[in-house]
Amino acid sequence: MNLLAKSSPLRYLLLLALSLLLTLTSPLLPAVSQTDGGGSPFVVATEPTFPPFEMTDEATGTLTGFDIDLIQAVGTAAGLEVQIESLPFDGIIPALQSGTIQAAISGITITAERAQSVAFSSPYFKAGLAIAVREGNETIQSLEDLKGKKIAVQIGTTGAMEAAKIPGAEVVSFDSAALALQELVNRKVDAVINDGPVTLFAIKEAGLRGVKVAGESVTEEFYGIALPLARPGETNQNQALVNYGLFQIIADGKYKALYEKWFGAEPPFLPLVAPAMVGTQAALEQAQRGPREPFFITLFRNLIRGAGVTVLLTVFAVFFGLIGGTLAALALISPAKILQWLFRIYVEFFRGTPMLVQLFIIYFGLPGLFKELGMEWTLDRFPAAVIALSLNVAAYLAEIIRGGIQSVDPGQWEACQSLGMTPWQTLREVIFPQAFRRVLPPLGNEFITLIKDTSLTAVIGFSELFREGQLVVATTYKAFEVYIAVALVYLVLTTLSSIAFKALEHYMDPVGRAKKLATS
Ligand code: GLN
Repeated sequence: MNLLAKSSPLRYLLLLALSLLLTLTSPLLPAVSQTDGGGSPFVVATEPTFPPFEMTDEATGTLTGFDIDLIQAVGTAAGLEVQIESLPFDGIIPALQSGTIQAAISGITITAERAQSVAFSSPYFKAGLAIAVREGNETIQSLEDLKGKKIAVQIGTTGAMEAAKIPGAEVVSFDSAALALQELVNRKVDAVINDGPVTLFAIKEAGLRGVKVAGESVTEEFYGIALPLARPGETNQNQALVNYGLFQIIADGKYKALYEKWFGAEPPFLPLVAPAMVGTQAALEQAQRGPREPFFITLFRNLIRGAGVTVLLTVFAVFFGLIGGTLAALALISPAKILQWLFRIYVEFFRGTPMLVQLFIIYFGLPGLFKELGMEWTLDRFPAAVIALSLNVAAYLAEIIRGGIQSVDPGQWEACQSLGMTPWQTLREVIFPQAFRRVLPPLGNEFITLIKDTSLTAVIGFSELFREGQLVVATTYKAFEVYIAVALVYLVLTTLSSIAFKALEHYMDPVGRAKKLATS
């Protein structure tokens, strides 16, 4: 039977649910996919941790920066009602493709490759990549010197693409340029490849200490405002409007004033078309032809590698989490009040604060604290991730295990005592086996949560399953396919662990097993 046949009740139910969802969410949706004019806002996305191009004004909490001023001026000149939204950098191109935003200004370099997926305005800024190293490092001067070195980059950027070309280099990707630079300060990597003006701003204006620029402009790049590609045969009306606005403010001197305001210098000459796009057709064909392997192969390889890391992280975190959780549970029910209190505070802290924050504290925060105390101490990514995950999971397990132990009838303690068993013997031989069986279902839940939570370690540059997926999106811009595949792999992992826990439950249930044997 066709479940979705015209007269099928399921079809009506689905349609009803869909229309309800659309009605309920329509006030939340930005006015996109409508044609412009008619006062509908022109939604422009930016990744706001890229000073001096886009950043948050500390005093007012609003977005500010050269790009923000520029797009406002362009909007005014072109009659577009600009509305700025924040997005992660690697989400910008997929959002343009899906039409959830109408443009993006985020220090985006015009490249022939990106031009296959999005349209660009004329260049509005001349930039280039810079190599940042720690002060005192004289050995790294150029891209050549980075062979075999550890490099931190921002995910999905031209810096990341450049780093990927360096033979033997170990590349770690972060969500923002600031975190990549922090990694350099914390001595975890040898260099950062990032846009020159941003690195210089971080050093000169934002007071980033211990870092210098080794190669200032190792590439020449031009930033453009990105827009969705026009459908075949249609003209890109918004692209024309944005270009009109841009030329307007260049002609009337507003552009020059803005450039001077943010960079204290005269703007350089800007070409009408970015050199990367000159002979566009040839450049595009080159980009298409390149030594790229098929998308599904890249995806498969990256996801398998990521899944391996995810499983490894989970296994380590469960191992330490179980030990920690059991010890904490014993402390919580111990007669020593001080122990009880200490562990109560521990449990409340780790359950009551987001794991993301805990990860940042352990990985980025602690080395900073030690540095201020005059000590050089850093933690590698893997131990940091395992510590954060284990501490977190142990806090939850402590409560589950405590509940399990306390659920065993106290009369059994007395019975054991009268048999002459020591408290430790009682725990080990009598209480634990029963408690363990009772806590298995919530333990299974925790395990599944943990598998999913390992995805948070991507923020400290860990290439687990989710980050591996993000890395594929950053080069292929196929967000839907990749994230669905990532979700499916998580689903496989969690389903397998559900099955394993069910089997364990069954194995641990002697009564059930005996019954089954008797009936068979
Ligand atoms: N210009 C770089 C790029 O386009 C970095 C941009 C950014 O991080 N906002 O990839």
